Amino acid sequence: MRNILLNPGPVSLSEGVRRAAVATDLCHREEEFFDLQDRLRAGLLGVYGKAAEEWSAVLLGGSGTTAIEAMVVSLIASDARVLVLENGVYGERLSRIAEVHGIAAERIHRDWTGAWDLEEVARVLGSGAFSHVLAVHHETTTGRLNPVGRLSALCQRHGADLLLDSVSSFGAEEIPFSSPALIACAATANKCLHGITGLCLVLCRSERLRLVEKPRSLTLHLPLWADHQAGRSTPFTPPVNAMQALDQALIELQHQGGWKARQARYLELAETIAGKLERWGVEPLIAGGESSCVLRAYRLPAGLSYETLHDGLKRRGFVIYAGQGPLAREIFRISTMGEIGDGDLQRLLDAMEAVLTNPEAV
Ligand SMILES: *Cc1c(COP(=O)(O)O)cnc(C)c1O
Repeated sequence: MRNILLNPGPVSLSEGVRRAAVATDLCHREEEFFDLQDRLRAGLLGVYGKAAEEWSAVLLGGSGTTAIEAMVVSLIASDARVLVLENGVYGERLSRIAEVHGIAAERIHRDWTGAWDLEEVARVLGSGAFSHVLAVHHETTTGRLNPVGRLSALCQRHGADLLLDSVSSFGAEEIPFSSPALIACAATANKCLHGITGLCLVLCRSERLRLVEKPRSLTLHLPLWADHQAGRSTPFTPPVNAMQALDQALIELQHQGGWKARQARYLELAETIAGKLERWGVEPLIAGGESSCVLRAYRLPAGLSYETLHDGLKRRGFVIYAGQGPLAREIFRISTMGEIGDGDLQRLLDAMEAVLTNPEAV
Protein backbone atom coordinates (compact mmCIF):
# COMPACT_ATOMS: atom_id res chain seq x y z
CA MET A 1 0.00 0.00 0.00
CA ARG A 2 1.40 3.38 -0.93
CA ASN A 3 1.47 6.13 1.68
CA ILE A 4 -0.69 9.11 0.75
CA LEU A 5 0.88 12.41 1.78
CA LEU A 6 -1.61 14.92 3.17
CA ASN A 7 1.14 17.33 4.26
CA PRO A 8 1.57 20.58 2.30
CA GLY A 9 4.31 19.31 0.02
CA PRO A 10 6.11 17.27 -1.00
CA VAL A 11 3.08 15.58 -2.51
CA SER A 12 2.13 12.05 -3.50
CA LEU A 13 3.30 11.58 -7.07
CA SER A 14 1.56 10.13 -10.08
CA GLU A 15 3.26 7.07 -11.53
CA GLY A 16 4.05 9.11 -14.65
CA VAL A 17 5.88 11.82 -12.70
CA ARG A 18 7.71 9.28 -10.55
CA ARG A 19 8.96 7.46 -13.66
CA ALA A 20 9.86 10.67 -15.50
CA ALA A 21 12.16 11.72 -12.66
CA VAL A 22 14.58 8.88 -13.32
CA ALA A 23 13.68 7.89 -16.89
CA THR A 24 16.86 9.04 -18.60
CA ASP A 25 20.31 10.33 -17.74
CA LEU A 26 20.68 13.84 -19.03
CA CYS A 27 23.76 16.07 -19.18
CA HIS A 28 22.89 19.69 -18.44
CA ARG A 29 25.18 20.95 -21.23
CA GLU A 30 23.45 19.03 -24.02
CA GLU A 31 20.77 20.18 -26.46
CA GLU A 32 18.17 17.74 -25.02
CA PHE A 33 18.51 19.42 -21.66
CA PHE A 34 18.05 22.89 -23.11
CA ASP A 35 14.95 21.67 -24.96
CA LEU A 36 13.60 20.48 -21.61
CA GLN A 37 14.49 23.79 -19.95
CA ASP A 38 12.80 25.77 -22.74
CA ARG A 39 9.68 23.61 -22.47
CA LEU A 40 9.48 24.16 -18.73
CA ARG A 41 9.93 27.92 -18.93
CA ALA A 42 7.17 28.16 -21.54
CA GLY A 43 4.99 25.62 -19.73
CA LEU A 44 5.21 27.46 -16.42
CA LEU A 45 4.18 30.74 -18.05
CA GLY A 46 1.40 28.79 -19.75
CA VAL A 47 -0.15 27.65 -16.46
CA TYR A 48 -1.63 31.14 -16.06
CA GLY A 49 -1.53 32.06 -19.76
CA LYS A 50 1.30 34.57 -19.49
CA ALA A 51 3.08 35.80 -22.61
CA ALA A 52 6.82 35.24 -22.77
CA GLU A 53 7.38 38.85 -23.92
CA GLU A 54 6.08 40.20 -20.64
CA TRP A 55 6.89 37.55 -18.05
CA SER A 56 9.84 35.25 -17.44
CA ALA A 57 9.82 31.96 -15.57
CA VAL A 58 13.18 31.59 -13.84
CA LEU A 59 14.07 28.09 -12.62
CA LEU A 60 16.29 27.49 -9.60
CA GLY A 61 17.51 24.58 -7.54
CA GLY A 62 16.22 24.67 -3.97
CA SER A 63 13.09 24.64 -1.83
CA GLY A 64 10.28 27.18 -1.96
CA THR A 65 12.13 29.46 0.45
CA THR A 66 15.06 29.59 -1.99
CA ALA A 67 12.76 31.04 -4.66
CA ILE A 68 11.38 33.62 -2.21
CA GLU A 69 14.85 34.66 -1.07
CA ALA A 70 16.05 34.93 -4.69
CA MET A 71 13.01 37.06 -5.55
CA VAL A 72 13.60 39.41 -2.61
CA VAL A 73 17.36 39.76 -2.94
CA SER A 74 17.20 40.23 -6.73
CA LEU A 75 14.18 42.49 -7.13
CA ILE A 76 14.18 44.67 -4.01
CA ALA A 77 17.02 47.18 -3.77
CA SER A 78 18.72 47.51 -0.39
CA ASP A 79 17.41 51.07 0.01
CA ALA A 80 13.81 50.12 -0.80
CA ARG A 81 11.03 50.82 1.71
CA VAL A 82 9.24 47.54 2.22
CA LEU A 83 5.97 46.68 3.91
CA VAL A 84 5.45 43.04 4.95
CA LEU A 85 2.03 41.61 5.79
CA GLU A 86 2.24 38.89 8.42
CA ASN A 87 -0.45 36.47 9.56
CA GLY A 88 1.48 33.24 9.93
CA VAL A 89 4.83 31.50 9.79
CA TYR A 90 5.44 32.32 6.14
CA GLY A 91 4.63 36.02 6.39
CA GLU A 92 7.04 36.24 9.32
CA ARG A 93 9.63 34.42 7.20
CA LEU A 94 9.34 37.18 4.57
CA SER A 95 10.31 39.73 7.24
CA ARG A 96 13.22 37.52 8.26
CA ILE A 97 14.49 37.29 4.67
CA ALA A 98 14.37 41.08 4.31
CA GLU A 99 16.20 41.46 7.61
CA VAL A 100 18.95 38.98 6.67
CA HIS A 101 19.60 40.94 3.50
CA GLY A 102 19.67 44.31 5.24
CA ILE A 103 16.43 45.54 3.65
CA ALA A 104 14.48 47.84 5.96
CA ALA A 105 10.98 46.43 6.34
CA GLU A 106 8.00 47.48 8.36
CA ARG A 107 5.42 44.91 9.19
CA ILE A 108 1.71 44.80 9.78
CA HIS A 109 1.43 41.88 12.12
CA ARG A 110 -1.66 39.77 12.73
CA ASP A 111 -2.13 36.70 14.89
CA TRP A 112 -1.75 33.47 12.98
CA THR A 113 -5.48 32.93 12.90
CA GLY A 114 -6.23 36.54 11.93
CA ALA A 115 -7.18 38.02 8.58
CA TRP A 116 -5.48 41.03 7.03
CA ASP A 117 -7.11 44.38 7.79
CA LEU A 118 -7.12 45.93 4.33
CA GLU A 119 -8.32 49.29 5.66
CA GLU A 120 -5.23 49.46 7.79
CA VAL A 121 -3.07 48.37 4.83
CA ALA A 122 -4.65 51.13 2.71
CA ARG A 123 -3.93 53.69 5.43
CA VAL A 124 -0.32 52.59 5.79
CA LEU A 125 0.28 52.52 2.04
CA GLY A 126 -1.52 55.86 1.71
CA SER A 127 1.34 57.52 3.56
CA GLY A 128 3.33 56.98 0.35
CA ALA A 129 6.22 55.66 2.42
CA PHE A 130 6.49 52.24 0.76
CA SER A 131 7.95 51.17 -2.56
CA HIS A 132 7.31 47.43 -2.17
CA VAL A 133 4.86 45.09 -0.46
CA LEU A 134 5.76 41.51 0.42
CA ALA A 135 2.94 39.11 1.19
CA VAL A 136 1.92 35.47 1.33
CA HIS A 137 -0.93 34.34 -0.91
CA HIS A 138 -1.93 31.12 0.83
CA GLU A 139 -0.74 31.18 4.46
CA THR A 140 -0.11 27.46 4.94
CA THR A 141 0.19 27.90 8.72
CA THR A 142 -3.62 27.93 8.94
CA GLY A 143 -4.84 27.35 5.38
CA ARG A 144 -5.98 30.96 5.11
CA LEU A 145 -6.22 32.33 1.57
CA ASN A 146 -5.21 35.97 1.79
CA PRO A 147 -7.05 38.48 -0.47
CA VAL A 148 -4.15 39.25 -2.81
CA GLY A 149 -6.45 40.53 -5.57
CA ARG A 150 -7.64 43.37 -3.34
CA LEU A 151 -4.12 43.89 -2.03
CA SER A 152 -2.73 44.26 -5.57
CA ALA A 153 -5.38 46.92 -6.30
CA LEU A 154 -4.28 48.85 -3.18
CA CYS A 155 -0.65 48.55 -4.22
CA GLN A 156 -1.47 49.85 -7.66
CA ARG A 157 -3.37 52.83 -6.23
CA HIS A 158 -0.46 53.75 -3.95
CA GLY A 159 2.37 53.09 -6.40
CA ALA A 160 3.93 50.10 -4.61
CA ASP A 161 5.23 46.95 -6.28
CA LEU A 162 3.81 43.68 -4.98
CA LEU A 163 5.88 40.50 -4.60
CA LEU A 164 4.09 37.34 -3.55
CA ASP A 165 4.99 34.13 -1.83
CA SER A 166 2.67 31.95 -3.90
CA VAL A 167 4.57 28.78 -3.00
CA SER A 168 1.49 26.90 -1.80
CA SER A 169 -1.00 28.38 -4.27
CA PHE A 170 0.72 28.46 -7.67
CA GLY A 171 -1.13 26.00 -9.91
CA ALA A 172 -4.39 25.87 -7.95
CA GLU A 173 -5.49 29.37 -6.91
CA GLU A 174 -6.11 32.59 -8.81
CA ILE A 175 -3.09 34.92 -8.83
CA PRO A 176 -3.65 38.61 -9.76
CA PHE A 177 -1.33 38.61 -12.78
CA SER A 178 -3.40 41.23 -14.58
CA SER A 179 -2.62 43.79 -11.89
CA PRO A 180 0.33 45.97 -12.95
CA ALA A 181 1.40 46.16 -9.29
CA LEU A 182 2.26 42.45 -9.20
CA ILE A 183 5.86 42.18 -10.39
CA ALA A 184 6.88 38.70 -9.21
CA CYS A 185 5.76 35.58 -7.43
CA ALA A 186 7.69 32.64 -6.05
CA ALA A 187 6.65 28.99 -6.35
CA THR A 188 7.88 25.44 -6.07
CA ALA A 189 7.62 22.28 -8.18
CA ASN A 190 6.46 20.01 -5.35
CA LYS A 191 3.24 21.58 -4.14
CA CYS A 192 0.28 22.35 -6.43
CA LEU A 193 2.28 21.55 -9.57
CA HIS A 194 2.75 17.92 -8.40
CA GLY A 195 6.46 17.64 -9.24
CA ILE A 196 9.28 16.42 -7.02
CA THR A 197 11.40 18.30 -4.51
CA GLY A 198 14.53 20.31 -5.36
CA LEU A 199 13.19 22.68 -8.02
CA CYS A 200 11.67 26.10 -7.42
CA LEU A 201 10.87 29.07 -9.59
CA VAL A 202 10.11 32.76 -9.76
CA LEU A 203 7.70 34.24 -12.28
CA CYS A 204 8.72 37.82 -12.86
CA ARG A 205 7.93 40.69 -15.19
CA SER A 206 10.81 40.52 -17.68
CA GLU A 207 11.42 44.29 -17.68
CA ARG A 208 12.07 44.12 -13.93
CA LEU A 209 14.90 41.66 -14.44
CA ARG A 210 16.57 44.15 -16.77
CA LEU A 211 16.37 46.92 -14.15
CA VAL A 212 18.29 45.01 -11.50
CA GLU A 213 21.64 46.52 -10.63
CA LYS A 214 24.54 44.67 -9.08
CA PRO A 215 24.11 41.16 -7.65
CA ARG A 216 23.79 40.76 -3.87
CA SER A 217 24.10 37.00 -4.10
CA LEU A 218 25.92 34.79 -6.55
CA THR A 219 23.61 31.78 -6.66
CA LEU A 220 20.32 33.60 -5.93
CA HIS A 221 20.70 36.35 -8.50
CA LEU A 222 17.68 35.96 -10.79
CA PRO A 223 19.06 37.93 -13.78
CA LEU A 224 22.00 35.51 -13.95
CA TRP A 225 19.69 32.49 -14.13
CA ALA A 226 17.25 34.25 -16.45
CA ASP A 227 19.94 35.37 -18.92
CA HIS A 228 21.46 31.90 -19.07
CA GLN A 229 18.10 30.20 -19.42
CA ALA A 230 16.96 32.60 -22.16
CA GLY A 231 20.14 31.74 -24.07
CA ARG A 232 19.86 27.93 -23.75
CA SER A 233 22.45 27.74 -21.00
CA THR A 234 22.68 27.32 -17.25
CA PRO A 235 25.12 28.94 -14.81
CA PHE A 236 25.38 25.97 -12.43
CA THR A 237 24.23 22.36 -12.32
CA PRO A 238 20.43 22.48 -12.19
CA PRO A 239 18.15 19.83 -10.55
CA VAL A 240 17.87 17.87 -13.80
CA ASN A 241 15.71 15.05 -12.41
CA ALA A 242 13.26 17.44 -10.78
CA MET A 243 13.01 19.24 -14.13
CA GLN A 244 12.25 15.97 -15.93
CA ALA A 245 9.55 15.25 -13.35
CA LEU A 246 8.02 18.73 -13.67
CA ASP A 247 7.94 18.33 -17.46
CA GLN A 248 5.61 15.35 -17.02
CA ALA A 249 3.68 17.02 -14.17
CA LEU A 250 2.89 20.02 -16.42
CA ILE A 251 1.64 17.68 -19.17
CA GLU A 252 -0.64 16.00 -16.62
CA LEU A 253 -1.86 19.36 -15.28
CA GLN A 254 -2.83 20.38 -18.80
CA HIS A 255 -4.54 17.04 -19.53
CA GLN A 256 -6.51 17.38 -16.31
CA GLY A 257 -7.84 20.78 -17.40
CA GLY A 258 -5.35 23.27 -15.98
CA TRP A 259 -5.27 25.16 -12.69
CA LYS A 260 -9.03 25.77 -12.45
CA ALA A 261 -9.77 22.06 -12.75
CA ARG A 262 -7.10 21.38 -10.14
CA GLN A 263 -8.69 23.96 -7.84
CA ALA A 264 -12.08 22.29 -8.29
CA ARG A 265 -10.63 18.85 -7.49
CA TYR A 266 -8.79 20.07 -4.36
CA LEU A 267 -11.98 21.77 -3.21
CA GLU A 268 -14.06 18.64 -3.77
CA LEU A 269 -11.61 16.61 -1.68
CA ALA A 270 -11.38 19.28 1.04
CA GLU A 271 -15.16 19.64 1.33
CA THR A 272 -15.70 15.88 1.50
CA ILE A 273 -13.08 15.53 4.25
CA ALA A 274 -14.44 18.56 6.16
CA GLY A 275 -17.97 17.11 5.95
CA LYS A 276 -16.80 13.78 7.32
CA LEU A 277 -14.86 15.40 10.17
CA GLU A 278 -17.80 17.64 11.04
CA ARG A 279 -19.90 14.55 11.73
CA TRP A 280 -17.32 13.62 14.34
CA GLY A 281 -17.44 17.08 15.88
CA VAL A 282 -14.08 18.13 14.45
CA GLU A 283 -14.21 21.86 13.73
CA PRO A 284 -12.23 23.88 11.22
CA LEU A 285 -9.75 26.42 12.65
CA ILE A 286 -10.99 29.12 10.27
CA ALA A 287 -14.18 29.30 8.21
CA GLY A 288 -14.29 27.19 5.04
CA GLY A 289 -14.87 30.25 2.87
CA GLU A 290 -11.65 31.84 4.13
CA SER A 291 -9.53 28.75 3.49
CA SER A 292 -7.65 27.89 0.36
CA CYS A 293 -8.61 24.86 -1.71
CA VAL A 294 -5.16 23.48 -0.90
CA LEU A 295 -5.13 22.95 2.86
CA ARG A 296 -7.50 23.05 5.82
CA ALA A 297 -6.60 23.26 9.49
CA TYR A 298 -8.83 21.59 12.10
CA ARG A 299 -9.00 21.79 15.88
CA LEU A 300 -7.99 18.58 17.59
CA PRO A 301 -11.08 17.15 19.32
CA ALA A 302 -11.00 17.17 23.12
CA GLY A 303 -9.09 14.23 24.52
CA LEU A 304 -7.37 13.29 21.24
CA SER A 305 -3.68 14.16 20.91
CA TYR A 306 -2.06 14.95 17.60
CA GLU A 307 0.28 11.97 18.01
CA THR A 308 -2.60 9.53 18.47
CA LEU A 309 -4.46 10.88 15.44
CA HIS A 310 -1.31 11.02 13.33
CA ASP A 311 -0.12 7.55 14.26
CA GLY A 312 -3.53 5.97 13.78
CA LEU A 313 -3.85 7.46 10.29
CA LYS A 314 -0.25 6.65 9.40
CA ARG A 315 -0.78 2.99 10.29
CA ARG A 316 -3.58 3.10 7.72
CA GLY A 317 -1.43 4.75 5.04
CA PHE A 318 -2.05 8.49 5.44
CA VAL A 319 0.39 11.17 6.58
CA ILE A 320 -1.25 14.29 8.06
CA TYR A 321 0.55 17.40 9.29
CA ALA A 322 0.89 19.03 12.71
CA GLY A 323 0.33 22.67 13.56
CA GLN A 324 3.40 24.92 13.99
CA GLY A 325 4.56 26.79 17.09
CA PRO A 326 1.73 27.53 19.56
CA LEU A 327 -0.76 25.71 17.30
CA ALA A 328 1.14 22.41 17.55
CA ARG A 329 -1.01 21.10 20.41
CA GLU A 330 -4.25 22.57 19.12
CA ILE A 331 -4.64 21.72 15.47
CA PHE A 332 -3.87 19.30 12.66
CA ARG A 333 -3.69 20.07 8.97
CA ILE A 334 -4.81 18.18 5.89
CA SER A 335 -3.65 19.17 2.46
CA THR A 336 -5.42 17.87 -0.64
CA MET A 337 -2.55 18.48 -3.05
CA GLY A 338 -0.98 15.68 -5.03
CA GLU A 339 -2.17 12.51 -6.72
CA ILE A 340 -5.19 11.51 -4.59
CA GLY A 341 -7.74 9.33 -6.35
CA ASP A 342 -11.35 8.58 -5.41
CA GLY A 343 -10.28 5.23 -3.97
CA ASP A 344 -7.65 6.96 -1.82
CA LEU A 345 -10.30 9.40 -0.59
CA GLN A 346 -12.64 6.57 0.39
CA ARG A 347 -9.87 4.79 2.26
CA LEU A 348 -9.01 8.05 4.04
CA LEU A 349 -12.61 8.60 5.14
CA ASP A 350 -12.73 5.01 6.43
CA ALA A 351 -9.41 5.47 8.22
CA MET A 352 -10.65 8.70 9.85
CA GLU A 353 -13.79 6.99 11.01
CA ALA A 354 -11.79 4.11 12.46
CA VAL A 355 -9.35 6.37 14.30
CA LEU A 356 -11.96 8.82 15.59
CA THR A 357 -14.17 5.98 16.82
CA ASN A 358 -11.42 4.07 18.52
CA PRO A 359 -8.17 6.09 18.56
CA GLU A 360 -5.94 3.39 20.08
CA ALA A 361 -7.07 0.54 17.79
CA VAL A 362 -4.31 -0.85 15.59
C1 LIG B 1 5.95 25.41 1.66
C2 LIG B 1 5.92 26.89 1.76
C3 LIG B 1 7.08 27.67 1.61
C4 LIG B 1 8.43 27.09 1.35
O1 LIG B 1 8.84 26.11 2.20
P1 LIG B 1 10.14 25.26 1.82
O2 LIG B 1 10.24 24.33 2.97
O3 LIG B 1 11.26 26.19 1.69
O4 LIG B 1 9.82 24.58 0.51
C5 LIG B 1 6.96 29.04 1.62
N1 LIG B 1 5.78 29.64 1.78
C6 LIG B 1 4.64 28.95 1.91
C7 LIG B 1 3.36 29.69 2.06
C8 LIG B 1 4.67 27.55 1.93
O5 LIG B 1 3.54 26.84 2.07
